[in-house]
Amino acid sequence: MERQRSPLTEVKANIAPKTRLIKAPSRLPLSGSRLKRGPEQMETALEPAKKRTRGLGPAPKMDTLRPRAPALGTVSQSQGQTAAQRFPRKTGPCPPATALKNQRPVPTVPAQKPAASTAPPVVAAKKPSKRPGWDLKGQLCDLNAELKRCREKVQTLGQENQQLRDQLRESQQQASALGVERHSLEGELARVQAQAEQDQQELGSLRARVLQLEEQLGTQEVLVHVLQKEQLELQEERKTLTSRLEQQERRLQASEAALSSSQAEVASLRQETTAQAALLTERGDRLHGLEMERRRLHNQLQELKGNIRVFCRVRPVLAGEPNPSPGFLLFPPGPGGPSDVPTRLSLSRSDDRRGTLTGAPAPPSRHDFSFDRVFPPESRQEEVFEEIAMLVQSALDGYPVCIFAYGQTGSGKTFTMEGGPAGDPQLEGLIPRALRHLFSVAEEMSGQGWTYSFVASYVEIYNETVRDLLATGSRKGQGGECEIRRAGPGSEELTVTNARYVPVSCEREVRALLQLAHQNRAVARTAQNERSSRSHSVFQLQISGEHAARGLQCGAPLNLVDLAGSERLDSSLTLGPGERDRLRETQAINSSLSTLGLVIMALSNKEPHVPYRNSKLTYLLQNSLGGSAKMLMFVNISPLEDNVSESLNSLRFASKVNQCVIGTAQANKK
Ligand code: ADP
Ligand code: MG
Repeated sequence: MERQRSPLTEVKANIAPKTRLIKAPSRLPLSGSRLKRGPEQMETALEPAKKRTRGLGPAPKMDTLRPRAPALGTVSQSQGQTAAQRFPRKTGPCPPATALKNQRPVPTVPAQKPAASTAPPVVAAKKPSKRPGWDLKGQLCDLNAELKRCREKVQTLGQENQQLRDQLRESQQQASALGVERHSLEGELARVQAQAEQDQQELGSLRARVLQLEEQLGTQEVLVHVLQKEQLELQEERKTLTSRLEQQERRLQASEAALSSSQAEVASLRQETTAQAALLTERGDRLHGLEMERRRLHNQLQELKGNIRVFCRVRPVLAGEPNPSPGFLLFPPGPGGPSDVPTRLSLSRSDDRRGTLTGAPAPPSRHDFSFDRVFPPESRQEEVFEEIAMLVQSALDGYPVCIFAYGQTGSGKTFTMEGGPAGDPQLEGLIPRALRHLFSVAEEMSGQGWTYSFVASYVEIYNETVRDLLATGSRKGQGGECEIRRAGPGSEELTVTNARYVPVSCEREVRALLQLAHQNRAVARTAQNERSSRSHSVFQLQISGEHAARGLQCGAPLNLVDLAGSERLDSSLTLGPGERDRLRETQAINSSLSTLGLVIMALSNKEPHVPYRNSKLTYLLQNSLGGSAKMLMFVNISPLEDNVSESLNSLRFASKVNQCVIGTAQANKK
């Protein structure tokens, strides 16, 4: 293969023509025709010289001279021919002197002893006859002729010698030139060899490089394979993406069309919205005006109904209780007949003492009472709440509201306020119903720009001490160190220290609070018998409303109070240690209840001094009992004849309250 050719071979191949070119001039000046002559001819041409040298004695160094060809070359053709002609073959006889003298080629005749000197050269051509011994003259003549011939020969040989010497010198010059040439060629050869070695090394490194490149090629081929595979995959992916792109483009076009139609729709809707917004603002203003008007009218209505209202509620006879005699409690219809809401109650009482004096049973005495509303035993919780819902609305409008439940123990105060056994929504009392109503109305009012918040507290006043019914953890069920204080210096607002004020926003939270209060009372009950009925429970809900857009604020407390049992202790009984405590409790309760009555009276009579501070209850409620407040008192009555005395007391107290009118209420607007 061309590629595997040795670099040395290449170099030699390159050098060969060059060398020939260098040597060529040394062979010259042979003519073109002479160069074509074969070696035999060359030998023939050289032959005479050889013969001659042999014949001359010790051979000159011509034979050993190298190269022979240039030596021959240096002898000109004419010279060669001349020599050949001049010197016939040694086998031949010595030419006659004339022949030598004329330098002509002589026929190959063996040399003969010349005849007499006088004899013509042609005679010499003949076989010379031996001169007789006596022919000295002849012999002398022959000798002279011979001498002359020899002299000529010597002369010729001298010339020839000279020529040969010239030739030798020339050959020596040529030899030295050739030596120089050889030297340079050797140098060149060394250089070429070095070059060849270098080339070999290069070749080795090139081979290594080739191997490396082949390796790289292998790697690259693998890479190319991988890349080709990848390319195929990418092409596939590209196809998929292209189809997806087309799909997306179609969808985009559809979306753009939909968008442009939507934009047009939006523009028209915007116009509509702007018009509606203007209308809405106008309507909002109108609505606000109407709302304010509603509040005013609602308040007027409440005032017309009375800022202090009294409702009487008679509980049903419970299972196991004796049925009262017919006519014991009557609910006479109003002026409008049975369709009128009942407002009157008639209680008959048979007076035993009078009967004893006359000796005959005295006719029962009738006691008629009239209230804002009377709820007979069959009245449902829902009906009761409907009557007070308007008052709850007043609290939202910014008027303080107080709802009391008054009556002897067991008359149904707690049932009215909190409700019956948990779990039955029909039996839910006023507190859960009022709160649910508040939350739903607040939600409705939010549409008009009002935001409401509610904070609840629940305390108990027992023996003129205040206790938190919402206490948790270690304070649970313990007598508290709660005190009624002003919220801050100069503030009219009152707060109970150490009591929890819990923000509420849903029924579930309120239910949890009532449950907690119930548990707290149950714990206390174990410590002190029936304490719950001997204490006032005050559920307070602070309502705060704000209309940010119009910069309006309103706030008022809603108080739902389950008063302590109003029954009196029978003073005729002998008092044991337990009864003494009970008497103290009763006195405290009576005192606080009569203070409540006195406060209401004082407010009604517009007396300058209202004795709020005479009891913890009135002190705590003073902000909800003033001129701007609305008050509702439930007087709870037991249906039992045995409780008639307490019932009468309660009804009398309630009647007094009912006669009171507190001045025109003012909404707490800021
Ligand atoms: P108070 O709180 O005045 O001591 P309660 O509310 O505890 O009285 O009522 C005493 C009992 O009478 C309770 O068992 C209660 O469930 C029941 N009760 C009271 N009022 C009603 C009513 N309107 N309907 C049904 N049960 C009632
Ligand atoms: Mg009770």
